[in-house]
Amino acid sequence: MLEVPFLDLKAQYKSIKEEVDKAIQEVIDNTAFILGKAVSDFENNFAKAHNVKHCICTSSGTDGNHLALWALNIQPGDEVIIPANTFIATAWGATLCGAKPVFVDCHKKTYNLDPEKVIDAITSKTKAIVAVHLYGQPADMDALKEIAKAKNIILVEDAAQAHLAEYKGKKVGGLSEATSFSFYPGKNLGAYGEGGAVVTNDDKLAAKIRMLREHGQSEKYYHETMGHNYRMEGIQGAVLGVKLKYLENWTNERRRVAAKYKELLNDLDRIELPFEAEGVKHVYHLFVLRILNDSTNKVQKSRDSLKNYLQENKIASGLHYPVPLHQQKCFENLGYKKGDFPVSEKLAEGGLSLPMYPELTNDQIEYVSDKIRKFFLVN
Ligand SMILES: *Cc1c(COP(=O)(O)O)cnc(C)c1O
Repeated sequence: MLEVPFLDLKAQYKSIKEEVDKAIQEVIDNTAFILGKAVSDFENNFAKAHNVKHCICTSSGTDGNHLALWALNIQPGDEVIIPANTFIATAWGATLCGAKPVFVDCHKKTYNLDPEKVIDAITSKTKAIVAVHLYGQPADMDALKEIAKAKNIILVEDAAQAHLAEYKGKKVGGLSEATSFSFYPGKNLGAYGEGGAVVTNDDKLAAKIRMLREHGQSEKYYHETMGHNYRMEGIQGAVLGVKLKYLENWTNERRRVAAKYKELLNDLDRIELPFEAEGVKHVYHLFVLRILNDSTNKVQKSRDSLKNYLQENKIASGLHYPVPLHQQKCFENLGYKKGDFPVSEKLAEGGLSLPMYPELTNDQIEYVSDKIRKFFLVN
């Protein structure tokens, strides 16, 4: 029996072991443990890859998210619009600034922020919109930009899942005032530890983000403003520098895997496959299918039994995400209730993420697809 893990970081490491080991050793030889040349070289190359002027590497994507909103002066009393369906870290940037997260439902096909619903959520206190490029698909940036401009609101991107993704021929990252990325090991571009970045085309904002990243200092021990320690480690910069060279190739492989799944599962009427909006390049951080309502209306139950059935056949799968943000305990005080965001809730009940990584073989994809078909023959 084949075995299909959810992702396989060992296979990728093996393919670049010599180069990565050498780069890490170099950092140690130079004892350049925090920031340093490996990080600044990577910052330059990552900015180039996304056609932006500045890249500031951080200790994680969550910290990058916070830094961007902090540098943009988001503060207590402000409201920040955030999709109800995303990883929780998207909300921490706003909450760490003392602002109130205001959740908005996602679009029923793309699962990204629904611009129509964003308009309804805007109040006199709304200061920013965080557009997440969820699962690797760019959000509807033109519509969001138009809203932000008309209402004089800041627009930022959370591109933690969308390295090298494109919107109308442009790379994500330069489509808003500031964009955070994550280099968590399982992301499309992953470090060998924690890591993240903020990119921007704004010179002043970039300088401020750099200052906040390092204790608010303009030079060592001279602190212009309050800040924090959000620096990247040298070893992470070195690993990312090696891996960046392969990213385009790996992204193409992810798209190959997605196309193959779609080809093999296309005719199943019990599931909805990922939808790719016109004019975007989806980079498939995740491949999330959704179980559709049937006569019994027990979507979550069928999703869970499909997940178990795959597990019995040594196929891993994931849930992204089982609980939308408005239903999380930590946001109880905001007063949302079940039923507020039906699209996000349906996705939480019926969504299932299939194994997705560049090294997945056609045999493995066929095996996974075959088991899914078998499941629906009897269920
Ligand atoms: C992973 C992720 C983050 C956080 O990144 P970390 O590097 O793990 O802190 C933020 N937003 C989204 C959408 C993510 O997927």
